[in-house]
Amino acid sequence: MSDTSSPVNIGSTPRIMRRPTRSVRVGDLVIGHAGPISVQSMCATKTQDLAATTRQIALLQEHGADIIRIAIDSRRDVEALAEIRKQTNARLVVDLQESYKLAKSVAPYVQKIRYNPGHLYHHEKDTPVQEKVKYIVSVAKEHELALRIGVNFGSLDPAQAENDADPIEVALTSAREHIGYLEDLGFTNYVVSLKSSDPNDVLEINSRFAELFPEIPIHLGVTEAGMLPMGEIKTRVAFENLLARGIGDTLRVSLTLPHSEKYQEVLIAKKIVQDVYAGRFRSVPRFDHSGLNIISCPSCSRVENEAFVDLAQKVKAMTQEFAEKKLTIAVMGCRVNGPGETDDADLGLWCAPSHVNLKKGSTLLGQFSYEEIVPKLRAEMSKLVEERGL
Ligand code: SF4
Repeated sequence: MSDTSSPVNIGSTPRIMRRPTRSVRVGDLVIGHAGPISVQSMCATKTQDLAATTRQIALLQEHGADIIRIAIDSRRDVEALAEIRKQTNARLVVDLQESYKLAKSVAPYVQKIRYNPGHLYHHEKDTPVQEKVKYIVSVAKEHELALRIGVNFGSLDPAQAENDADPIEVALTSAREHIGYLEDLGFTNYVVSLKSSDPNDVLEINSRFAELFPEIPIHLGVTEAGMLPMGEIKTRVAFENLLARGIGDTLRVSLTLPHSEKYQEVLIAKKIVQDVYAGRFRSVPRFDHSGLNIISCPSCSRVENEAFVDLAQKVKAMTQEFAEKKLTIAVMGCRVNGPGETDDADLGLWCAPSHVNLKKGSTLLGQFSYEEIVPKLRAEMSKLVEERGL
């Protein structure tokens, strides 16, 4: 993609001046003011399915993905990653959830590691989080990797969340704390992401972060933006506004798509950047939650059942009759982020291998087969509409 690190004249609108951040090296790519705005995507295939994963990496790379993320949860995933590395020259980043110790095993095969502060609490509860971060940083230093502190509204640091109910404050505090850990260790080759499924939150928190930490490169994302066309619209609401103010150094558009169409994440991301730099804006200034809001995860190798994308599409089709109702429905692919991300939805589904969990807010209503779940969801939506007089 064209280099957007310099000011670009966009006609009658003011020039876009990217923030003067420091440079973060991801292999031969620079993230930050001195580099182009890079585009990322993530494999949705099972990491251990080598043929499918290498095919997906090639597809994403062909369409211009600068960095490709893979989920790693086990030793077997690491073995698969070693094989994948032999078959691709793509810049790879791994997503570590609780398994922070895998950092050492994956390091020889990747250029970057992403960790989520909220997920470092679940395993080895007696080991302080700061010690776990120290371990990840020592690996990154040894292998000259970049890191991403990936704060996510759906899985906020539980210790911080107890002190402050406002997710924006909690997320900022968590980012600040982890920035402190990395800086104290003399490590600066990192970016920060602050993601939510609500584009208004993404807009606000990244604006605030950019002011607080002007030197730190930002990875932009609206999580679980869902299916097209709404997934692109939600993303544009946040990205257009931020990019136009020079905020955002690398980004990912997270869409629920079949594996064969995953490359659309890359094409849409590039189009959004190009549109902003050409002065073309397609979104409205604020995202108005006046009608139905469907949040669905983009899926990844952790997805518990391949039927997930199909289920998300069925939910979208079934819910058309509720289009005018102010309800938020979340559809999530697995147990890693499913339980947390559905808490704030009016009704949430998260997939297990042979059943789907149905929640109302944070309460589990029951577990249903993949065949039963859509009519069950419809019945619960009708009840809510009646209860709330929507
Ligand atoms: S909810 Fe699970 S399957 Fe969906 S993107 Fe997140 S980790 Fe992957």
